[in-house]
Amino acid sequence: MENEPTPPQTPQPAQPAKAAKAADGAARSRSRRPAGPKNGQQPKANGAGNKSGGRGRGGNNSNANGGGSGNGGRSISRGQAIRAQKQSQMDAQRIVNQYASATAVAGNQRRANVIDDSPRLKVIGLGGMDGGGSKNMILVEYLNDAVIMDCGNDLGVDLPGINYGIADTTYLESIKQKLRAYIITHGHLDHIGGLPHIVPKFPAPIYGSNFTIGRVEEIFQNFGLPMPDGFELKTVTMNENTHERLKVGPFFVELVRITHSIPGSTVIVLDTPVGRLINTGDFRLDPNPLDHERSDIERLEQLGNEGVLALMSESTTVERPGRTPSESTIEQSFKDIIEAAPGRIFVGLFSTNMNRVQMIVNAAVHGGRKVAMDGRSMVSTLEMALRHGFMKIPKGTFVPIANVPNMKDNEVVVVCTGSQGEPSSALQRMASGDHRHIKLKEQDTVVLSSTPIPESGNDSLIGDMVDGLVRKHVHVFEHRHHDLDNIGPLHVSGHASRDEYADMINMTKPKFFVPIYGAYRSKQRHIELAIEQGIPRANTINAENGQIIAFTPDKMEIVGEVPHGTVLVDQTGAVVSNIVVKDRIVLAEEGLVAIVLTIDKKSGSLLTSPDIISRGFIYMREQEEIMNGLRVELRRAVQQRFKRVDLDRFKTELKDHITHYLFEQTQRSPIVIPVVNVVAGGSGGNKPEVKTAANGRTKTSEQIAQEQEKRFQEMRARLLTQDARVD
Ligand SMILES: [Zn+2]
Repeated sequence: MENEPTPPQTPQPAQPAKAAKAADGAARSRSRRPAGPKNGQQPKANGAGNKSGGRGRGGNNSNANGGGSGNGGRSISRGQAIRAQKQSQMDAQRIVNQYASATAVAGNQRRANVIDDSPRLKVIGLGGMDGGGSKNMILVEYLNDAVIMDCGNDLGVDLPGINYGIADTTYLESIKQKLRAYIITHGHLDHIGGLPHIVPKFPAPIYGSNFTIGRVEEIFQNFGLPMPDGFELKTVTMNENTHERLKVGPFFVELVRITHSIPGSTVIVLDTPVGRLINTGDFRLDPNPLDHERSDIERLEQLGNEGVLALMSESTTVERPGRTPSESTIEQSFKDIIEAAPGRIFVGLFSTNMNRVQMIVNAAVHGGRKVAMDGRSMVSTLEMALRHGFMKIPKGTFVPIANVPNMKDNEVVVVCTGSQGEPSSALQRMASGDHRHIKLKEQDTVVLSSTPIPESGNDSLIGDMVDGLVRKHVHVFEHRHHDLDNIGPLHVSGHASRDEYADMINMTKPKFFVPIYGAYRSKQRHIELAIEQGIPRANTINAENGQIIAFTPDKMEIVGEVPHGTVLVDQTGAVVSNIVVKDRIVLAEEGLVAIVLTIDKKSGSLLTSPDIISRGFIYMREQEEIMNGLRVELRRAVQQRFKRVDLDRFKTELKDHITHYLFEQTQRSPIVIPVVNVVAGGSGGNKPEVKTAANGRTKTSEQIAQEQEKRFQEMRARLLTQDARVD
């Protein structure tokens, strides 16, 4: 996948990826809040609540409730407050559940629900069977042997502090001893990004083409966390041009050259005792690729003639009609731009698209310009590609980015990351003036050699960046407006269109057809396309993650499900618990209020005024009434309850009480954290004065406590009745 005009997608691998996040972020945040009144309160509840005077719990009220809260005089029951809080917890849970781990996926707690020792071939998508084709990972299991095809990550996860998701490997625990190999189709992160997490836990050699293995080594080197002691990365480089076949357990593996948007892309051919499986990986059938490494059509046809049990074909852009134009159609556009540009030229593109980098370098050399590269991920991949001899760069063409300010404007082309407007990308930093060496200026030309990833929200990021550039009188060329600008196309997709997907089916002539690596709906379209090509409907399956597809030479069926899910990973590479993420969502939506109380153990009285700390809740300084009211509530709670219950219970009650109070005042349910410091021993002159004069007499502390207890009980009773009414 990657850099494609289709749903959830990975832009810019190795970039922090935050802003370039793909997918349904917008829709998801909409769903975080239920429409209308947040806790779904019903009108009758308000009516009932108002009985107590329209201002909270009545009786003990200070003037804290006297407005400014937007409460509109409603009284809110404890039940409502608790339900509101539950609701926000549940909303958060629902959001997290989209990426639940295997143990959290409902009905998944059990082990694989079949014990199957029959000589059937089992194919299980641990990832890549939904979500637009991300964290792609397909397990093939036969008796005592297994291999994994692709092992990617999902950069489209839109959760606070989460960088990406990887497939949950709970099931692999139970078949660990069977695992013989990882076989990788190509070096995009959604196909290799899970390897540094998963291979150390389930070691086996990684098979791939020369460029793919280079990418694998690159991501292991750049991985933030240390590998476990004794772990050794084992790779097997295969030649995709010679039809080399390697024996792996009872299987034979072959890689077949295919065109995509990264060099070294391959189709996996896995010959098993039951029959031949083909996994296309990501592909298009470019008749005229820039590196002249065309898809090995002849071999695919040959394999098809020999017989293919099942074709597992990538489904990213099945909805796109016709054929994807050749990469070579954009070469002239770059030559034209470079020829006409008055000053410096900056080209933004996806960081692993080395063929396009080569093309731009060619066009720059043609126009008599030097080339500087920038963007960490792009430079890293370029270095690897140069080391492996994948690029042909004339000596003296590359110049360091730091030299660019000292060069003549019409002598340089800068190739960099940032075609999706990602905030931390090289291009964006140059545009905003935050770049160490380069600030964009009038007469510069910027070319965005990509299209915005649909449904990613990147559209508006790009829009903002282009606005900023145009304001500075920078010339901007975007692929989507190339007609307006009177220039040829500036980007082509790395994925096939319908006719090419059909070609793949017709070349390989599979008995069974299983669409993979795409959204469920795209895979369904792919099935319809396969049926049009003559595959019987009964020989197709739209499988979901975790489902076991069992094959005999004559039959394909789903026979069960294994534990599956998503494991979330943060910027450091560490796994983050779903519970932590859930708290982050509540924090993000509702904020936090911490209450710090210092209480004298002996007297049970507050020694200092309560400290109230809030973050992301409301701006407390502007809400003095709420603050004062909260302090009154806290004092009363301490006086009435501290000496009556044990500390844990006191904290729980305090938490409930404050949650209720804040919800009543603000209609929000922040996370409330009570911190109670109990100070032992009479602290001399610091003895709090809580004696109350009533009828000219000083009450004993016992009497005060009794009265307060009574009041507190009454208050609670009232609240409980309200609950009953609301319910
Ligand atoms: Zn790809």
